[in-house]
Amino acid sequence: MKWLQNSCRQLLGLTLFLVLGHIIGYGQSYNSVHRKAILVDTHNDCLSGQVLEGRDISRLLSIGHSDYVRWKRGGVDIQFFSVFTGETPRKKEGFYQDALQEIDSLHRIILRHPDKFDFATGYKQARKKVHRNKIVAMIGVEGGHMIESDLSKLDSLIAKGMSYLTLTWNNSHDWATSAMDESGAGKSLSAKGLTDFGKQVMKRMNEAGVIVDLSHVGEKTFYDALEVTTKPVLLTHSSVWSLCPVFRNAKDQQIQALAKNGGVICINFYPAFISKTFVEAKKYWEGHGKDSILAALQQLPEYRDEAGLLSKQVNSLVQQELSKSLPGIKEVVDHIDYVVKLVGVDHVGIGADYDGMGFVPKGLEDVSTYPQLTAALKRQGYSNQSLKKILGGNVLRVLKANRF
Ligand SMILES: [Zn+2]
Repeated sequence: MKWLQNSCRQLLGLTLFLVLGHIIGYGQSYNSVHRKAILVDTHNDCLSGQVLEGRDISRLLSIGHSDYVRWKRGGVDIQFFSVFTGETPRKKEGFYQDALQEIDSLHRIILRHPDKFDFATGYKQARKKVHRNKIVAMIGVEGGHMIESDLSKLDSLIAKGMSYLTLTWNNSHDWATSAMDESGAGKSLSAKGLTDFGKQVMKRMNEAGVIVDLSHVGEKTFYDALEVTTKPVLLTHSSVWSLCPVFRNAKDQQIQALAKNGGVICINFYPAFISKTFVEAKKYWEGHGKDSILAALQQLPEYRDEAGLLSKQVNSLVQQELSKSLPGIKEVVDHIDYVVKLVGVDHVGIGADYDGMGFVPKGLEDVSTYPQLTAALKRQGYSNQSLKKILGGNVLRVLKANRF
């Protein structure tokens, strides 16, 4: 009888083991991994648009891509807020004042909602402040023109908590040239790359632990910067040229050089950076396609252009046509996969560019949708450890190497 009791006990043990194994396995489904991972997004443009227009991102909004409620639904832990001003400053006082205005607006949000947002600069601070209920806000300044070629203004932005500086936006400036201009899609240049002053800027950034962001910069500037930097760098919101050859994306050789530096490319979700099909559709519908819609509407007597109604109608039809060619989650996964196959899983992250995109991929409509990306990556066969790296671990490593 004793052998029977022992067998029963063993059987019970085995069943318990299997049931527990199943529960643990289930717990490790994409949602569980997603919530356990520290999700870092390295680029969001809601400050320069929505916040300056007076939108309150601390509550659920029906417009735009980002707000506190949707960040939390999306499982976002650390959000880099882009401080941005274009080629022409908003204020007559200039680019630097524009940057200060946006930084102040972020600090005001945090002061008003200390239960929802917290501010961090270095790795240790960010890591410590990651909290179930809060979004850790960090600052990325998008465009070297905002320091107005003045090292004291660079120092002042560092003192105000800048965690990364994108050496250029689309506009080249005194000390660095952009991808748009270097590729011939923008202004013609007399010289390309980083100047000696640009190298001084980078030296100061490295010393202060400010991450060098090479999204938007031209190839010459990219390689010049990699030669100078003593720390790992980021491409905070760029995708893969080989899959979608547009000037804002990184070529294989650049991604390999970035990996050698220990850096990370954070994939941009913008449909025109991730899908060749969408790029072609956009080119057509914003050119000949638009003209043909306009010509057809003008034939109809009821369509008289009163107060710009006709052009509004045309634009809305163009948008409708374009939305038929939108890429989805699969294309974002393809870009991540491509980088992983090229240089390994330690050099890719997420820099979606929400609130900076005129179109969004299907299934990734706003910041609440990140769990769907994790689900798709999991289906693709990524291990939990790899997912944690992609979702934020790799960027945290770069942050740590720059400023502990
Ligand atoms: Zn950008």
